[in-house]
Amino acid sequence: VTARPIRIGIAGVGKIARDQHIPSIAANPAYRLTAACSRHAQVKGVETFRDIEQMLAGAAELDAVAICTPPQMHYQAAKAALLKGKHVLLEKPPCTSLAEFDHLVQLAQKAGRTLYQTWHSQHADAVAPAAVLLQSRRLKRARVAWKEDVRRWHPGQAWIWEAGGFGILDPGINAISILTRLFDEALLPRSVTLFVPANCQTPIAAEITLETGGGAEIQMELDFRHTGTQTWDILLETDAEPITLSSGGALLSLGDAPVPTASGDLHGEYRSIYRRFAELVARGQSEADARPMRLVADIFLMGKRIPVEPFIE
Ligand code: NAP
Repeated sequence: VTARPIRIGIAGVGKIARDQHIPSIAANPAYRLTAACSRHAQVKGVETFRDIEQMLAGAAELDAVAICTPPQMHYQAAKAALLKGKHVLLEKPPCTSLAEFDHLVQLAQKAGRTLYQTWHSQHADAVAPAAVLLQSRRLKRARVAWKEDVRRWHPGQAWIWEAGGFGILDPGINAISILTRLFDEALLPRSVTLFVPANCQTPIAAEITLETGGGAEIQMELDFRHTGTQTWDILLETDAEPITLSSGGALLSLGDAPVPTASGDLHGEYRSIYRRFAELVARGQSEADARPMRLVADIFLMGKRIPVEPFIE
């Protein structure tokens, strides 16, 4: 942790900025929220600019910027901040192409600033202990069910249906980021079906089969049309007891028995992200992991598209 608080600005004040970033910054004495930019919202107690350029010009004292806009705007915002010598915390999905991803990594290196490209689900409580359990077990097969109600979690978010908006792969990339954290070995898409509403550019549901380097199959069922109980589960069948991660990776069980996790905190992902960002800034390091993004790019590259009924919010 640096000696004085990191003066941080938030770019894009939507759902995730309000639900997670602003409270996590407020809870961590390593930061002082110093500015924000949004076309519509105001953040209480700090100067709010119209866009990132105006924020970078008007709040020159900023040390860092957290990019919380839709993914289509991540690259330009992160680039502008790095070129002004700011450290950058980047929401997932990091950007809309691997070329943008690579360029941001290069820009951070050149600028000598921290780029922390985050995968919040990797911070969920059960993920690290599940990775340890897997080290002494062989995976036989896995099933991922990521089924949520888009109207509840992405209200009014037209960007998610536009090109570069990822559709169901916006939450789906969270599950994939857990898989890449659990498995060092190769993960290869083998069959992919994307269900695309007639009035949208991105899928509302997907059925994906991945194969691990060791030959095990991972079946993924992703669906944004799911109402009722929301499901973010990963079931790993192994040569010993099955391992289950549920609630997006917050809860762990081995066989039928729940395994207590370190913090027992269902919502600690963003607190952990902000602790890590302060560490990286203090050490002058960056962290960017392209594996989840590469896998999703492959999924879009090889997916069969099936048209489905239009999505009307
Ligand atoms: P959101 O509610 O739509 O908020 C994004 C904000 O970005 C908007 O409020 C908007 O604020 C600003 N923005 C700037 N330029 C924009 C443009 N051209 N079009 C639309 N908005 C623009 O989205 P979100 O859910 O917070 O998601 C933001 C990022 O966080 C995404 O990358 C998403 O994947 C990630 N994320 C979301 C969740 C979640 O549960 N929703 C969870 C984890 C991560 P102004 O209109 O005021 O400028």
